[in-house]
Amino acid sequence: MEKNAAETIKRAAVFLDRDGVLAREKSYVATIDQMEIFPYARECVDKIKAKGYLAIVVTNQSGVARGIIAEEDLVEMNRLLMEQTGVDAVYYCPHYEKGIIAKYARPCSCRKPQTGMIDAAVQKYGIDLTKSYMVGDRATDILLGQNAGVSTVLLESGYGTARLEEPVTPDYIMRDLRDFVRTLL
Ligand SMILES: [Zn+2]
Repeated sequence: MEKNAAETIKRAAVFLDRDGVLAREKSYVATIDQMEIFPYARECVDKIKAKGYLAIVVTNQSGVARGIIAEEDLVEMNRLLMEQTGVDAVYYCPHYEKGIIAKYARPCSCRKPQTGMIDAAVQKYGIDLTKSYMVGDRATDILLGQNAGVSTVLLESGYGTARLEEPVTPDYIMRDLRDFVRTLL
């Protein structure tokens, strides 16, 4: 039988952590003016998209559950992040089991390194995970990528590889997002 020519070609994605990748790593970013987007972020996202990839942020925001930032402020921050970097989407997990805001104080399947945020993006965009990447600065980012079955890239532009919460084996270790974009096919 002839192959269906209309078969959808799935796009690949570059999943990006926010802090330490697109913006400066700070323990908690509570207000919009505390979010310090790297000057090269926009240019890097442009290049990722020009190479045919979706650029999708996946970020744990337990500050919401911890009472450090209101979810509506985070949503506004995400809007600004999209506007200033050009990323296609921002997925966030506001939950944390030991949080103090009852609504968010629960375990969930979207908190990295669990794959809920990537699963949601795959549902929406139909992504080819075998050709996709997870780029982050922390062990949870690498574990998430491995759990989701994408290539993993550890950047040194955040907490730094010396401060990993646990030992991980990323596929690549690079200085910052500019180095990743240069090597991306
Ligand atoms: Zn969650």
